[in-house]
Amino acid sequence: MQIGFVHKKCGDFEYLVSPLFERKGVKHCFTTRLGGVSEEEHLSSMNLGTSRGDREENVIKNVNIVCRALSFTEENLCRTNQVHENKVAVLSEPVEVSMGCDALVTDKTGIPLLSTSADCVPVLLYDKKNKVCASIHSGWKGTVKKICREAVLAMGENYGSEPSDIIAAIGPSIGKCCFQVKKDVVDAFSGSFRELSFISEEGDGIHYKADLWEAVKLTLIDAGLKEENISLAGECTVCNNHMYFSSRAQKGKFGSLAAIIEL
Ligand SMILES: [Zn+2]
Repeated sequence: MQIGFVHKKCGDFEYLVSPLFERKGVKHCFTTRLGGVSEEEHLSSMNLGTSRGDREENVIKNVNIVCRALSFTEENLCRTNQVHENKVAVLSEPVEVSMGCDALVTDKTGIPLLSTSADCVPVLLYDKKNKVCASIHSGWKGTVKKICREAVLAMGENYGSEPSDIIAAIGPSIGKCCFQVKKDVVDAFSGSFRELSFISEEGDGIHYKADLWEAVKLTLIDAGLKEENISLAGECTVCNNHMYFSSRAQKGKFGSLAAIIEL
């Protein structure tokens, strides 16, 4: 696995790219909270979520800043509405919001796929051979339900993608350093993962630390991806709340980051 993304700037807007994706010439980004127009402290300033209590015109301006910086086809931008499940929407034409889905897949050029997060794990996939891409929101519940595996399967079933041709980028999200959980979460993971090497006990008999990055990586490898084709930002949104929105650090009042990919 390749660890570490590159930070880039366009004016005040700061974003990250995966070196693995950049080498393949894939248009993509993971946003930070820097360089937008949202004014309220908890949304300041690059909030890209439409359901975070921000003014609509601010979100539209922020989307515009991001799309202009990276030459995304703004008029075709597609979103999920994210319900912490494992449903994938396969798009052959732009759909503004795919309801009830946490992942988007397409093989069409000019259709940017956007998923939002703030501690949950954003994942981008790209099949370099068949030219297929995916944008995924994998919160802990979606990670338990293996949304990333569902996205890999959807790429294969709809567009003939071989997992060994797919590269992955796991974006900024809550790290093991900050994802303290209790037994209910451990039980949920033990129902779907063969072994729980990514969860460790805190020693007080109540708390555990869970490594969602590792869980997502294991899911992708289990789905057939090669470990060397997986890249990880390795930046914790809670520890770096000055740079990223964080549900935990901001106690429920937060803006949304975005992971976007376009063929
Ligand atoms: Zn942390």
